[in-house]
Amino acid sequence: MGSDRHIESIAVTWQESLRRAVRSVEELLTLLSLTREQLPELDSNPNFPLLVPREYIERMEKSDSCDPLLLQVLPLAQENAQVTGFGFDPVGDGLSARSAGVLHKYQSRALLIATGLCAVHCRYCFRRHYPYEDSPTSLSQWDDSLRYIQDHRAIEEVILSGGDPLSLGNAKLFGLINRISSIEHVSRIRIHTRFPVMIPNRIDADFIEQLEAIVGAESSKSIYMVLHVNHANEIDRPLMQAIAKLRRSSVVLLNQAVLLRGVNDTLEAQKDLCRKLADSGVIPYYLHQLDRVAGAAHYECDESLGEALVAGLRRELSGYAVPRFVKETAGELSKTLIL
Ligand SMILES: *Cc1c(COP(=O)(O)O)cnc(C)c1O
Ligand code: SF4
Repeated sequence: MGSDRHIESIAVTWQESLRRAVRSVEELLTLLSLTREQLPELDSNPNFPLLVPREYIERMEKSDSCDPLLLQVLPLAQENAQVTGFGFDPVGDGLSARSAGVLHKYQSRALLIATGLCAVHCRYCFRRHYPYEDSPTSLSQWDDSLRYIQDHRAIEEVILSGGDPLSLGNAKLFGLINRISSIEHVSRIRIHTRFPVMIPNRIDADFIEQLEAIVGAESSKSIYMVLHVNHANEIDRPLMQAIAKLRRSSVVLLNQAVLLRGVNDTLEAQKDLCRKLADSGVIPYYLHQLDRVAGAAHYECDESLGEALVAGLRRELSGYAVPRFVKETAGELSKTLIL
């Protein structure tokens, strides 16, 4: 493979990239020149199997078993440990489900579970046990959920989340977005996605064209996109090019990161991340304290560490380059600001 692996990954479509994503631990080790001896805690988890695109693997350091990108996708035996306080629905999604696929927790915004599929399986994902099979899968199945939004005039913003909404093809995705934009009281549409980070060529010409049609339409809705970058090494040229395309089409770009042990738990790592985001025109929006989902306890950092990091960032960076450090508590009316 070697050098032609890189050339191929540039030429293929995003669907092809997703098909060719690595799903075997053995293959991942081979690509990174690592051995099982270097990763004694390695384990497979059939309920939430390894999934990582080659475009992401290319950004990992060869022979480094502690690479911060690798640590986000590597299934470890610790995931099977039962740890008090870590559960299957850590943020109370179940309590806030209103209609199929609609979570309405916060007054002015509703969140749609657009799909259960993602470009990657992040081991710390707070929805790793979410019952996606209960959410709509075809456009017509969204009727009830869209009626819910239509009936609730307090909803100013609809958030497409999941899973990753960009797993849907453009036809399905924009079919849904266009129906949402036809609801008068919804003035903003927000897309939570990790796709541009994982497979940057997801931001193809057709995607940009359809996006511009919405922003440019008479009803003129604003589009916000919240990326999910946890480490500066994730920001390479292809991602920067995708970001540049999105910015040219008037999308407001924000980032949310999760504070993760071994990945981004130093001031250096947070500073590099926020600087590189700001340099690319992406505002660091949230730094999340880890949601206590079963299987992710080994990623947890003390809240006091997060506070110290963000205080450090505030001393060294422009105000807008410092994220709000937040956590989510089931039943609260908004995310809770820690610092
Ligand atoms: C986090 C979240 C939102 C968005 O909250 P903001 O603070 O506006 O970013 C909306 N709905 C649900 C269900 C959420 O979990
Ligand atoms: S991309 Fe988002 S929803 Fe998908 S596994 Fe990662 S954190 Fe979870």
